[in-house]
Amino acid sequence: ETRAGGIAPRPVLDRLPRYAAGKPPAAVSGLASYKLSSNENPLPPIPAVLDAIAGQKDFNRYPDPLSSKLRATLAEFLDVPAEDIVTGAGSLGALNQILAAFAGQNDDGKADEVIYAWRSFEAYPISVGLAGAQSVQIPVTGDGRHDLAAMAAAVSARTKVILLCTPNNPTGPALTAAEAEAFIRSVPADVVVVIDEAYQEFVRAEDAVDGIALYRKYPNVVVLRTFSKAHGLAGLRVGYSVSHPELTQYLRVAATPFAVSQIAEKAAIVSLENYPQVVERVQKLVDERTQVMAGLRELGWAVPDAQGNFVWLALGAETTAFAELAGTRALSVRAFAGEGVRVSIGEPEANSRFLQLCADYT
Ligand code: PMP
Repeated sequence: ETRAGGIAPRPVLDRLPRYAAGKPPAAVSGLASYKLSSNENPLPPIPAVLDAIAGQKDFNRYPDPLSSKLRATLAEFLDVPAEDIVTGAGSLGALNQILAAFAGQNDDGKADEVIYAWRSFEAYPISVGLAGAQSVQIPVTGDGRHDLAAMAAAVSARTKVILLCTPNNPTGPALTAAEAEAFIRSVPADVVVVIDEAYQEFVRAEDAVDGIALYRKYPNVVVLRTFSKAHGLAGLRVGYSVSHPELTQYLRVAATPFAVSQIAEKAAIVSLENYPQVVERVQKLVDERTQVMAGLRELGWAVPDAQGNFVWLALGAETTAFAELAGTRALSVRAFAGEGVRVSIGEPEANSRFLQLCADYT
């Protein structure tokens, strides 16, 4: 065994949590397995997308670094200028570009601060730490909502970015339009407010925020969206941010060149061009979610409002035991030890098996 002598990573690497990607369940004989641990769309991309990418072959060429065709399609779809859109390798890639541009280590050697709710998307602490910035985590309320008053109170002279996750992964509720706007007005205008709307298409709460509406009004807002969830394109890695030129001018500098491949760009365009089919599929998942939530509440489980394609069981100390039990029924769920279990809405059969598990557990 050879070891590289003297090579050491940046100290921050030792302090960062490790991203624990959702795993498929272990096989259980006689049962179909369902992966409910990564908030994926259980359905494959729509047929038009699969047809369109099957014909591609010019992979000896680099993709368009600006994803111009996708941005033009999105510009029309969202009714925003194409210049305001920056694409990335998933919305996580787009988020890393935002952090690279706006938060890190200052010239005085001190770290900028990035505020976000916790628990929230588990990539946040990793991305913030790698950027060289300092995470400021504000606990969510008992019903899994952002504590916006506490988040506003945490703003300091070092705060450069605030991440709002709506619906919040993993707890589920969406921010209301009123609370989100009041929050943005309450923080300094030179703080970048990122509204991560990875699950936007699944939201049905009538009072929920629409990040694009806030972007139109506030030049410090960046909206993050993705093709990974509603469009079912997680494996192709394509997402984007929308913000005013005041911010996009810097995001383009920080953007990873060629982050979106030809296939990913083409798939995203064709999926948008067939959006009614996407909506139809999303509605099926939302209907499934409604049934799962009703079932859980009937069984007496206290579940926070679920506006994404997942539900949250705050199982506390029982989290690991519950996840293991799910495994014995060929279901994988995402366990956050000591806190709770996040379960994606999947195929109808997977959802009913999950409900049965909850019935047997109580
Ligand atoms: N934001 C949130 C809140 C998420 O839950 C996820 C995926 N789990 C992402 C961003 C990143 O997704 P992607 O990079 O696939 O767009």
